[in-house]
Amino acid sequence: MTKDTEAGVLTGRTLLAGIFGDPVAHSLSPAMHNAAYAALKMDRAYVAFRVTRAGLSGAIRAIAQLGLLGVNVTVPHKEAAARLLARLSAEARALGAVNCIVNRRSGLWGDNTDPRGLEMDLRELRIDLRGRSVIVIGAGGGAAAAIVAARRLGAGQITIANRTRARAVKLKRRFALPGLQVRGLEALLDRALLSGAALVLNATSVGLSAERFPKLDYRATARSCFFYDLLYGSKPGRFLRPALELGRAGADGAGMLLYQGMLAFRLFNRVEPPAAAMRLALYRALGRA
Ligand code: NAP
Repeated sequence: MTKDTEAGVLTGRTLLAGIFGDPVAHSLSPAMHNAAYAALKMDRAYVAFRVTRAGLSGAIRAIAQLGLLGVNVTVPHKEAAARLLARLSAEARALGAVNCIVNRRSGLWGDNTDPRGLEMDLRELRIDLRGRSVIVIGAGGGAAAAIVAARRLGAGQITIANRTRARAVKLKRRFALPGLQVRGLEALLDRALLSGAALVLNATSVGLSAERFPKLDYRATARSCFFYDLLYGSKPGRFLRPALELGRAGADGAGMLLYQGMLAFRLFNRVEPPAAAMRLALYRALGRA
């Protein structure tokens, strides 16, 4: 530690971590990771790099050449990064997607902390899924992470409800788990399915914008059903709001984002992440603190 570090000034010895994405300027990861470095008084910094699809393989090679500690990988590069790396964790291989690349002495290593991040948040929220039914809306990388997390928490039946059936079928094949079924978005109006669900989870990219969320019969769900939106923001989005208005419990994906970030911080820096500092920085960036 130096006086400069305390003042948040970069030095000649400052080590860098970062995130590759496009777009990436909106990312909240720099706020979380830099707050952690400040709390631990480490002479390290975390930077957002806008990396195009064409530039991804060069950017990945540069991680070792520039001596970066590691990088997170976000939209649209998670799947491509998995294909470009020779060494992957079992989790990243199962998902076919990487959300962090660690620069190890033995070479670059890809991992995916999204499922563990979601699992940790669902555990903190005390969602009991043992033997229960879960509905996952969407069939992209977020949905894949949700399936892994729900299964680890003991979910019995998991229904993937997606707009494009072929994509959901592909996701089901990737996991080949018993109790995993594929439906179209009409499943969100299926009262029998909804009434038995312990958790309905939104893993679509339908945002906070004007885009309408698919029709969902919220009233058909049990009072104890929990609604989880992978999307996060300063206020509940179009999926979560009707559930909360009906008195159902729910949460957005800020907790998942925090936990996947803490797991990445540990991988990049080999030190325990300061949870309170990272949570505060995230909530401040979301306008909630
Ligand atoms: P993705 O791979 O692009 O998948 C998007 C999914 O949304 C697809 O299943 C797509 O259906 C569906 N979709 C898009 N527009 C739709 C519409 N108008 N109506 C119905 N379905 C629609 O995205 P992703 O990487 O899985 O991310 C999904 C969401 O999770 C994003 O909001 C992302 O920010 C969030 N996420 C959060 C965290 C966290 O830490 N909290 C981590 C990962 C992801 P089709 O297959 O039919 O196109």
